[in-house]
Formats: sequence, structure tokens, C-alpha cells
Amino acid sequence: MTTARGRADVIVIGAGPAGATAAALLASWGRSVVMVHRESGQPGLAESLPASTRKLLRFLGQSDIVEAAGFHPNFGNISRWAGKQAVTRSEEHGYHVARPAFDRVLRAHAQHQGVMLVEGQVQGVELGGSVLVDVASGNGSPVSYEARFALDCSGRAGVIARKGLRRHPAGYRTIAIAAEWACDRWPDDERAHTVVDSYADGWAWSVPLSGIRRQCTVMIDQDCTTIRKANLQGLYETELAKAAEISERLAIARQSSEPWACDASVYGTERAADDRVLLVGDAASFIEPLSSAGVKKALTSAWRAAVVVNTCFDSAAMQSAAFDFYNRRERQVYRECRARSAQFFSEAAAVYADPFWSTRAGSATEGTIEAGSELSDADLSRDASIRRAFDSLRDAPALDVARGAEVRFERTAVIEGRQLVMRDALVIPGFDEPVRFAAGVNLAELMRMSSGGRDVSAVIDAYHSRVAHVDPTDILKGLSVLVGKGLLEIC
Ligand SMILES: Cc1cc2nc3c(=O)[nH]c(=O)nc-3n(C[C@H](O)[C@H](O)[C@H](O)COP(=O)(O)OP(=O)(O)OC[C@H]3O[C@@H](n4cnc5c(N)ncnc54)[C@H](O)[C@@H]3O)c2cc1C
Repeated sequence: MTTARGRADVIVIGAGPAGATAAALLASWGRSVVMVHRESGQPGLAESLPASTRKLLRFLGQSDIVEAAGFHPNFGNISRWAGKQAVTRSEEHGYHVARPAFDRVLRAHAQHQGVMLVEGQVQGVELGGSVLVDVASGNGSPVSYEARFALDCSGRAGVIARKGLRRHPAGYRTIAIAAEWACDRWPDDERAHTVVDSYADGWAWSVPLSGIRRQCTVMIDQDCTTIRKANLQGLYETELAKAAEISERLAIARQSSEPWACDASVYGTERAADDRVLLVGDAASFIEPLSSAGVKKALTSAWRAAVVVNTCFDSAAMQSAAFDFYNRRERQVYRECRARSAQFFSEAAAVYADPFWSTRAGSATEGTIEAGSELSDADLSRDASIRRAFDSLRDAPALDVARGAEVRFERTAVIEGRQLVMRDALVIPGFDEPVRFAAGVNLAELMRMSSGGRDVSAVIDAYHSRVAHVDPTDILKGLSVLVGKGLLEIC
């Protein structure tokens, strides 16, 4: 059979949240994009998207279409983690989504932006002067597409990621077993809440898809469990019964589907950008579902990937810096997410004497955190010298600051709009790359306007008038980095 061949600027493999988002952005910026979509054979998961997801969707231009789809709202979590009860209620709503429906909405948006959607399965990828992707299309005929760049957005399948780029450092594997429930009498004030429950050797959660329909999932160790189709229902019942908070509520509910299992083991990658390929979303790394951050991570990864590829089209000379930027960010996000879940696993390990928890708590804390060129609040609070400096500056706004140790600036890649550009960043002792922002404040600018010697409130005024009107507390955080690391001194 002759193979038809098409051409595009970019080929996107997989049309989950990562693929649909990257494809939509690139098409809206004028790039020709082919997106290959294969329907998964598995039943769809119900997932919890916290309220903060909406800000991201607005930024990505997907908010109206997602809001219009009318997904079940998410007003927070009810948890009994390591024996402690906690309720987190958010003022704004997020979403509880059936993933197949959510993904369809994002795909429709991508098509609306001009993306060509090809129904089919990618079967082979050849990398050379360009990328050649072979697709078995829905109607059975083979098609191949040639493009300058490919984005592997194929999730855990990792069509390209598995060709030596992925690694499994965790040292444990997790399997999720899920089933749907009809819950007509779920407590009224909990119908828009995710319920999370830990137990001796696993954890469970329950995600509502409507006021009376929920999906309940148990997470268990894959290596300590024999899983066969024939024993899946029994295993599911046994595990769910251990999750007291959830099983209590399910006592008056009815299981409305057979259980199914899926791999939920974490993995990462050393190189998420390589030659002509970027690994995006779960294709690059998978974080603990406990975080409810997988979709947000996929969306931000897609945004960065789109900016990187868009930059390379406009300036081939930027490719090396752009790919380096992408690699660092993907590694940084993965490590930060793992460090956050480690805290929860450690809490559980302290209560349940079971290797399920100690293995997860120990493994997740391995390695150092790469802070990257944008320091988050978490980076700042990890560093004792920055914390001490913040306390001194907050309590004494009339303090004068002046230039301290030798200050060096270096050029680093930062995102501005749809491009990566090289800008000045500060070389700060103890950080693995030049830092441009801390708590959203431009450190290079802050350094320049503080080094002549002036009091803290004058620096805040100068920053407001010359750079941007940001929260004064964030400027204090920026100054704390400079003082804590000796680039400024308190006189
Ligand atoms: C049990 C469990 C619970 C979770 N709960 C949550 C939650 O509550 N909240 C949350 O934010 N995240 C959650 N996650 C994580 C979330 O599912 C992922 O992070 C998210 O799906 C990543 O999106 P993605 O687009 O990168 O990958 P995916 O969503 O996996 O999309 C990949 C797409 O590529 C397609 N594909 C694969 N191979 C091919 C091929 N050869 N050809 C063509 N197409 C292909 C697939 O069919 C799929 O459509 C959970 C994950 C698990 C396992």
C-alpha cells in the first residue's frame, strides 16, 4: 500500500491536555500543526482539578470553553491523612472532570485554533534532518508526516520518551484500581469535594462526577500485590474497606462499574528536549496523583514547549539555550513535585509502620532541588539565610541596604510572551543557575536600584515606579534573597 505523506511545522503525538494545549498555542501563533490522537482503550479516570487550574486555563485561552462544558465543581478536599482530619474549602471553584470529556473539550479548542487532528496511532518515528512520523490512521491506511519538530505528548506510553530518555528512579511502583459508584445519599456539603484517605499500606480517594456519581480509587504497591483480572473485584473491595473515611460513606452507595487497574508509578527524564523532540507533560515525567497537579503540570509543560519551539522557528541560533531552558524546567518541576509528596509520605510513614510509606518517603527525598532562574516561595522558605533576612527587613523598613559581595550578572533564557529571550540574571552563591526572578520580582533590576545604598521603603517605591507595581511583601522577599546571600548588606 502506498503511504501518503503530509508536512507540517510541528507534529504533536497524543492529544491529552499536554498535546491539545501545545498544539492550540502553536497554531494560534501561526505554525502549521498536525496532532495525532488515539483513543485510549481504558475507561476514563475522574480527576480533581483544583481552583488554581482556572487561572492557568484563562492564561492559555481555554477557560471559556472549559467553563461552558459545565464540569462538576471542585470546592476543595476532605482528608484523613495519617490519621489527621483536614478540610480544605476553596472560595472559587475548580473542576471534577471525567477525563475523556475534558480532553475532548481541549481538542475541540485546538481544532478551532487551526490544528489538523488526525485520528490514528503513531507507530514509528524517525529522527534525522527532520522528524518523520508514521501513523496507522483510523481508516486503516498508513500516513506519514514530516515536520521540523515533534512534541511527544503521548503520556505514559512515551512513544519517543521510551527510546532511552525516560528513567524510573523511584524504586517503587504503584497501581491504581478504580470503579464508579452511584451515591444518592452522599452528604450534601461534600458533594463537590474530593475525599482522600490513607491507611496502613495504601491510600484511596473519591472524586465526584456529579452530586450522585463518584469514582473511588485505591493506590497500592504494584510489587507487593498479585493483580489478576479474576481477583480484581476482591482486591478492590479489600483495599477500599481499609480506607475507613471513604468506605463509611460508601456503605449506603452502590458500585456501578467493574473495577479497572492502571499504572500510577512515578518516573522522570534526564533530557526532555533532544535534537528535534520535546517530551511534554506525562511523556516527560509522572508525579504522584496525590498532588492533583498532573493536569496543571501538563498544561504548563505544554506552554513552555510551545514557546521553545516557536522561538526555534524564529531564531535557530536560540535552539541550544531554549532546549537547555526546557530541560532544566522539566527537571525542576518534577523534583519539586516529588519533594512535596515526600512530605505527605513522611507524615504517613511516621504513623503506619509499613514499607509502603517508608519506601515512598525515603525515595522521594533523594537528590537536590534545582531552583532554576525563577525562585518560588518554596525555594525561598527552604533557605535559612533568606528566611532570616526576610524577618529583619520586614520588621525594620527604615533599614538601609547597600551593595555587598561582588555581584555578577549572566545572560539567561526567559519567557517573554511567545518567545524565549536572553536577559540579565544574577549569579547567586548556592544556586545552580543565574537567577532572574524571586517571588515574581526582577532581581537584576532590584539589585541595580538598591546597590547605591538606600532604605527599604525607598527601594520599594523605586521598584514600583520603574519596574512594576507588585506586592511590597514580594519586593521584601526579593531583597531577602540579595541580603541573605550577601549581595546586599544591611548598613
Ligand atoms: C490514577 C490516576 C489519578 C490521577 N488523578 C489526577 C487528578 O486528580 N488530577 C490531576 O491533575 N492529575 C491526575 N492524574 C495525572 C493526570 O492523569 C496526568 O498527569 C495527565 O493526564 C497528563 O496529561 P498528558 O496530556 O501529558 O498525558 P495523557 O493524558 O496521558 O495523554 C496522552 C495521550 O496520548 C495518546 N497516545 C498514547 N500513545 C499514542 C500513540 N502511539 N499514538 C497516538 N496517540 C497516543 C493517549 O491515548 C492519550 O490520549 C492522575 C493520574 C492517575 C494515573
